[in-house]
Amino acid sequence: MSQSGRIVWHRRAPARPGAAALELGGLLESDWRRGDTVREVLRRVLTTIEPDEVEVIRLAAEKTLLEHCGDTVRLRGLIEFSNRCVLDCHYCGIRRGNRAVKRYSLALDDVVACARWCADKGYGSLVLQSGERSDAAFVRRVEAMICAIKAATRTDAQPEGLGITLCVGEQAPETYARWFAAGAHRYLLRIESSSPALFSRLHPQNQRHETRVACLKTLGEIGYQVGTGVIIGLPGQTIDHLIDDLLFFRDMDVDMLGMGPYIPHAEAVLPGAPEVPPAQERLRLGLRMIAAARLLLRDVNIAATTALQAMADDGREQGLRFGANVIMPQVTPPNVRKMYTLYDGKPCLDDSAEQCAVCLDNRIASVGRRIEKNQWGDSTHFAQRLGRTV
Ligand code: SAM
Repeated sequence: MSQSGRIVWHRRAPARPGAAALELGGLLESDWRRGDTVREVLRRVLTTIEPDEVEVIRLAAEKTLLEHCGDTVRLRGLIEFSNRCVLDCHYCGIRRGNRAVKRYSLALDDVVACARWCADKGYGSLVLQSGERSDAAFVRRVEAMICAIKAATRTDAQPEGLGITLCVGEQAPETYARWFAAGAHRYLLRIESSSPALFSRLHPQNQRHETRVACLKTLGEIGYQVGTGVIIGLPGQTIDHLIDDLLFFRDMDVDMLGMGPYIPHAEAVLPGAPEVPPAQERLRLGLRMIAAARLLLRDVNIAATTALQAMADDGREQGLRFGANVIMPQVTPPNVRKMYTLYDGKPCLDDSAEQCAVCLDNRIASVGRRIEKNQWGDSTHFAQRLGRTV
């Protein structure tokens, strides 16, 4: 650390990389909470292109992860149970206005079969994700799914059944409460961008930033572990937007994060090239956002998202190396998977859940981490907030 209290960035490979990481980690610990430098530190984390500096940042993020969350990777089998959607988000391939998409909804039995498969594999948790609806039939259907999954996945290894994360968008407080009572205990609702101005450029006028913030607050009050996140590399998005996003996560005291690079879809409203940064730049920013979030928030669960894998074959492994600790392996039946194409180039479209599982074991082992089996894999931050242990 220099006299001024700023970080000294290593211009060359430090003689002892471990010590450098410790030094940076230590500095970050003392500096993060100082309002006068936090933006500057985050800017350097997001923008530096010096390979040695990047490695120092990566090591600091990895060290923070290992200290606060341990070395296990938490799995959530991802079931995309319906692509029917009433919203028209400008970036999304399954938006209501895309008439080229064939719509589907999985039957309850098919969803439960996917959940049983996850339980047999020791996945521990699953995510139920779909396009957005809030009509009474949908609310009842999700409730029925939660109850059926809980009943079908109680085993000796997991007496309380699989952990359930919901990712089904903005809903009324009563709906959130009803699903929580049925047994769901985590909820992912991305803010997409913490900037109201950028949010409004990404969505039709009837979708409001303030509604999403209110939903996140309601979810926390009900007792969910709350996750949010942003899309990275959007047209018109600046580094200052991303810094604001990180500070928003901190100020909202979230438990989980799911962020990923923007990947254009041919039928979406939002433009692709040349308005969008090149793919390598979006991947780079995606990894830096994970590292910055890990350093800033420390004990939250952070997903290495499928969108990272769409940018590079080893994108999710890179995400783990930069501080992520959650992976959502695809368990949606292959016959409908193509119909849930949010962006072009979605990976693993033809692989069976079994093939994805084998591939995943190898991928996680390749970065020196291990899978946590038969555990919900809850957010350490959530437990700390409640004064419990995970
Ligand atoms: N409807 C629910 C919601 O909005 O929370 C869940 C489904 S929604 C399709 C899941 C996420 O996909 C969105 O929050 C958005 O961030 C992401 N997404 C959609 N289109 C994308 C794109 N073109 N590139 C990257 N991420 C995208």
